[in-house]
Amino acid sequence: MAIPEEIINEIKYKNDIEQVISPYVTLKRRGKNLVGLCPFHGEKTPSFTVYPENGSFYCFGCGVGGDVFTFTKLIENLDYIEAIKLLAEKSGIAIPENGYDDSYSKLKERIYEINRETARFYHEYLMSPDGKWALDYLVDRGLSVSTIKHFGLGAAPNSWDSLINHLKSKGFSVDDMVSANVVGKTSRGTYYDRFKRRIMFPVINIRGKVIAFSGRKMPDDTSDTGKYVNTSDTPVYKKSENLFGMNFAKNHCDERIILVEGNMDVVSLHQAGFQNAVAALGTSFTTEQANMIFRYTKEIVLALDADAAGQKAVKRAGEILKNTGIEVRVIVIPDGKDPDEYIKKNGKDRFDALLNGAVSEIEYKLLTAVKDVDVESDDGKVQYLNKAVEIIANEKDIITRDLYLSRLSDKYGVSKNALKTRVDEIMKKNERTVKKKEISEIIRPKFDSSDINPERFKYPTAAAAEELVITILLQHPDFFLQVKEDLPPEKFITVFNKRIYTEIYNCLYGDNDINLSYFGELLDTKEFSFLVSLANNEKVRKSPLIVLKDSISVILAENDRKNMSDVSSLSNEDWAANIQKMIENKQKGKQ
Ligand SMILES: [Zn+2]
Repeated sequence: MAIPEEIINEIKYKNDIEQVISPYVTLKRRGKNLVGLCPFHGEKTPSFTVYPENGSFYCFGCGVGGDVFTFTKLIENLDYIEAIKLLAEKSGIAIPENGYDDSYSKLKERIYEINRETARFYHEYLMSPDGKWALDYLVDRGLSVSTIKHFGLGAAPNSWDSLINHLKSKGFSVDDMVSANVVGKTSRGTYYDRFKRRIMFPVINIRGKVIAFSGRKMPDDTSDTGKYVNTSDTPVYKKSENLFGMNFAKNHCDERIILVEGNMDVVSLHQAGFQNAVAALGTSFTTEQANMIFRYTKEIVLALDADAAGQKAVKRAGEILKNTGIEVRVIVIPDGKDPDEYIKKNGKDRFDALLNGAVSEIEYKLLTAVKDVDVESDDGKVQYLNKAVEIIANEKDIITRDLYLSRLSDKYGVSKNALKTRVDEIMKKNERTVKKKEISEIIRPKFDSSDINPERFKYPTAAAAEELVITILLQHPDFFLQVKEDLPPEKFITVFNKRIYTEIYNCLYGDNDINLSYFGELLDTKEFSFLVSLANNEKVRKSPLIVLKDSISVILAENDRKNMSDVSSLSNEDWAANIQKMIENKQKGKQ
């Protein structure tokens, strides 16, 4: 593809990394670098580091790294070219048309257009005489016309091809409709509208674009289809990374976000004035969703159904959010109602009271545990207390634990000491299991360099030396003379490092400046993150020249060893030539 390199450099030059990142991350100076809380994984102590010197960032918590383009790509959920375009636009730089392959970006553009047209089609149908059945239903459920318009709600006609025909009349291709997932394709090769006789909720991302749809079944629909049909993942939409209502909630959530179960709950909460409500789209709460929320708010209130599934969801969300530093509270809606029903029946103020009375996660668990047993009987009491100590043992904060133990002891007339002994036992047991389990299950796993360079296992010493050479050349391009003759790229043992080194070598050989962003195009996010971590390795700052020379010897020695191991298959002449080469290398190393 390649957008001309001078243009990329110009864009990079005009978009200072500190300025690009600071709207998203509060940065504090630490030495010549800046640190802040990583926007890509939840954390309480800053491990996200910005290096103004070479225009890069790296997170020691989750291992993500890159330059201004990577940052923009990840934080705005764009592809690489879109990120370049966005930064170009911000700094008033024009990118020549057709200078690069942007077929994927063009497809995404078309999908956005299809989605917008589809949303318009469903909404107009809803407001037309034909859509009366759907409008009646929504009004019946207490929605005002202005709320319906605000959310752009719509309805899908009872037909297999009305959307297809409409989009065709607007000039869209059926293939693109399928890519947008608003149209399906049968195994026989025929096409059909994916949503039929449903209430349609357009999903709008935080930049205001329609990215997907969620279609709710009518109550009188007896077909065996799901209550909700949602768009599957498309080039513009990832279910696990979006929340319904986030486009509105993001401007109203300084204090808190309310997580509810259904789209309808979100809409009626908004109508009642709670514009900070969101819903997960047909998924259980994910780490990506947590990572999105925690950029905007400091507290999340879970207003989920009181049934078993709701309790499980609370537990899961609690676990995911535990490490992000967001306060998690839970509201218990009386009589097992969902927020939509509750508000309709009891009004805004009563829901507000519920919200203010939201309990901590531990309290919620204690409350739900007591429901299942008869605490009037001794047996039931013991059962409950066993569950309760289990819950308390999972609480990290010692003061909170102590507080709840005192309460339990007072309420049930059991000695606090006995309860505490049990809690200590359970905690010890838990600690052992946690150690066994990867804690990183909850936060995004750190990129594993052996994953990027699998040969690291086979040649650990050589790979480490190769990485040092790469680091030193990135930090001191003027040391190129040290490697120019002695260490041509073919000497590198591991394929991944060889690939990087070859690029650096050729770049410096041609007397060009070495620029990290050059690799943004060649490497994927993981590989690039790894390279950025190498570029910012502080350990070699002290005596780079000595380290470089040592590393060269290690790599050359490894070459010899590798050649020797193949020696049995060599002819006599080749063997002799090999020995000669080794001797030459040794002498070079000594110079
Ligand atoms: Zn991170």
